[in-house]
Amino acid sequence: MKTADPFYKSKRWKRKREKILRRDEYMCQESKRYGKTEPATTVHHIYPLEQYPELALVDWNLLSLCEKQHNAMHDRTTGEMTELGRKWQERVRDKFDEWSERNDKD
Ligand SMILES: [Zn+2]
Repeated sequence: MKTADPFYKSKRWKRKREKILRRDEYMCQESKRYGKTEPATTVHHIYPLEQYPELALVDWNLLSLCEKQHNAMHDRTTGEMTELGRKWQERVRDKFDEWSERNDKD
């Protein structure tokens, strides 16, 4: 989709991406839930970058995945999250709520 986004070329993203892969031991975290060991090749934004640029570099919003599972998170025709993608959003809901409460106060 937005592979040409300059964000993905930035040094801070590359550094963060590497950090997240290391945190997840270079393993696809969705495959891992089913006891499968699959090398992670991509770092996914649980709450999408386009809608939540403030969460672009927040650890809890980032997830290491293999290509196959990453494709399963996104509906490429609509640009929406799939049900599986939304499940991961549910899993970090507490952190998301905490974050949005903090950011509502102004
Ligand atoms: Zn993604």
